[in-house]
Amino acid sequence: ATRISVGQHLQAALDHGIVVFDESIFERIRGVDTVVFDKTGTLTTGEMTVLESHGPADLMRTAGRLERRSTHPIAAAIESAFLDDAGDGSESGGEGSGRSDRHLADGGQADCGRTEGGQADHERGHEIDEFRSHETGVEGVVDGDRVLVGHPDLLTDRGWTIEPSIADRVESARESGQIPVVVGRDGTAEGVIVVGDEPRADWAETVTTLHDRGVEIVVLTGDDRAATDVFRDHPHVDRVFAGVPPNGKTAAIRRLRAEGRVAMIGDGTNDAPALAAADLGLSLGSGTALAADAADVAIVDDDLSAVDRAFRLAAAARTRLK
Ligand code: ADP
Ligand code: MG
Repeated sequence: ATRISVGQHLQAALDHGIVVFDESIFERIRGVDTVVFDKTGTLTTGEMTVLESHGPADLMRTAGRLERRSTHPIAAAIESAFLDDAGDGSESGGEGSGRSDRHLADGGQADCGRTEGGQADHERGHEIDEFRSHETGVEGVVDGDRVLVGHPDLLTDRGWTIEPSIADRVESARESGQIPVVVGRDGTAEGVIVVGDEPRADWAETVTTLHDRGVEIVVLTGDDRAATDVFRDHPHVDRVFAGVPPNGKTAAIRRLRAEGRVAMIGDGTNDAPALAAADLGLSLGSGTALAADAADVAIVDDDLSAVDRAFRLAAAARTRLK
C-alpha cells in the first residue's frame, strides 16, 4: 500500500470538516473505550421550540426579555416565542397583558450581547437590573421584581414555591419527555414554558457505528429521565446519566475515567469543563468557541456523523503508518 504522511491524514480530517489539533490525537482516538454524548444539541438538534406555556402574559414577556441575554438554545426559543420583535421584527401581538407593555420602543439598543432586534431593555416600565446567567437558567430584577426563569430546581433550591397548577404542568411535561422551564416572580413560580427539540436524524446510526467499533456509549444530560427515554431504549446505548447538573458532568467524566479511556462530545459552552476533563474532547458545531477551545478535536460542521468519521480516520492513520 502507498504510505501517506501524517500531514495527509490531518488534511483528510480537515477535508471532512474535522479539525485535529495534532497528530497524537489519532492515537488517542484509537485508545478510546467509552464515548460520552451530551444530549441537548449533540444527540438532538438543539433547535428548541416552545410547545406550550401557561401563566400571566406579562410574566412570559419578562421571561423573553431576560432570555434575550442568554446564549442557551432554550433562551432563543423563549425569546422568539414571547418577544414580538425577536425574529423578523414583525409585531404579532394578540396577547393580553396586565401591564402597558405593548408599545415597544422602535430601534432601541438592547443592552446585551445580541445585536438583532431593536427592543430596548430600558423602555418605560421595563428596567432590567442585576441580570445573571446561571447554569440552569437566568435571573434578573425587572421593574423591581426578582424573576427567575429556568429548571424547577433553580427556583426550589432557593426556597421558592411552585403554584400547584404549574407543578402539575411541570410533571406532565416531564412525563412526555419535554423540558419544563418555570418562570417565577418574587418567590413564586407562576408560569411554565414547555420546550423541546428532536433527536438528530443520524443519531442512532452514529451510535451504532461507534458501538460496532467496540466503544461503550454513554449519554449525559441535565434533563430529567423521561427526556432520555428514546436514547435509553436504544440497544446500543449502554448507559444514560440524566438529571446531571452542569458541574456534575465533570464528576461523571472522572468516574468513567476510572474504568477506561473516555471521550466526551458536546456542543455548548456548558460542556467545556466536561470536554476538558475527558481523555479526549470533541466539540460539535461552530457555535461555541468555548467548547472548541476545550476540545482536542473540533467538528466544525453541525454534523454528528463526523464523530464516526474521526474514528475511521484515526483507524486509517494507524494502518497506513505502520
Ligand atoms: P444538556 O445537559 O441536555 O445539554 P444543559 O446543561 O444545557 O442541558 O441545561 C440543563 C437544563 O438547565 C435545561 O434542561 C434547562 O432546564 C435548564 N436551563 C439551562 N439554561 C437555561 C436557560 N437559559 N433558560 C431556561 N432554562 C435553562
Ligand atoms: Mg448541551
